[in-house]
Amino acid sequence: MIRKKSIQDSLIEYCKKMGVNDVRIIPSSKISVEEQFAEICKNDKCPGYGSAPSCPPFVMNSNKFKDIISTYHSALIFKFEIPTNILFGNERNEVLYLLHETASALKYFSLNNGYINAMAIAAGSCKQIFCEKHKACPVITNSGKCRYPEKACPSMSGLGVNFNKISKLLGWDKDTTKKNEEPTSNMAGIVLLKHDPEISF
Ligand code: SF4
Repeated sequence: MIRKKSIQDSLIEYCKKMGVNDVRIIPSSKISVEEQFAEICKNDKCPGYGSAPSCPPFVMNSNKFKDIISTYHSALIFKFEIPTNILFGNERNEVLYLLHETASALKYFSLNNGYINAMAIAAGSCKQIFCEKHKACPVITNSGKCRYPEKACPSMSGLGVNFNKISKLLGWDKDTTKKNEEPTSNMAGIVLLKHDPEISF
């Protein structure tokens, strides 16, 4: 018997067409969120800290994000495997741009194909990725709207997501770099998914 292609199958197919190296869908309850990750942004003096609404202290705190996650049934996790010398070199922002663009495209695909309120998050600060040449973010300074509303996503670590735990769960930790000694490193994004009760999955 031939199984009918589900909306979830179409989403994974679309994700692969976008060139990701791996994609999984897991229960949203498996996403580990810890306050300390958002604290690291501040303590490690990340240049993204305080620069955009997608980063601490402006992005929602980890407890609020935990509440938000609990309203979703599942999460699509995708990764690109990037040569480590590129990821930690001059082209880093181009890689992160691709990551945010992909996460956002998956969010819109989900919204157009039977999911409601899909939410995309991705590694990195949108200020550094999209608006590095601009002095300030207009959203933070109350002087205008986001310049890249269809691409920029909230920062994964800024929301407190412990991606190491997700990597372990998915068996991706073996190819995650430690001290940048591996030839490739993973860069990942997440799209939170919620079924539209009116649509059959
Ligand atoms: S304008 Fe948008 S993309 Fe640029 S820093 Fe502000 S929120 Fe981020």
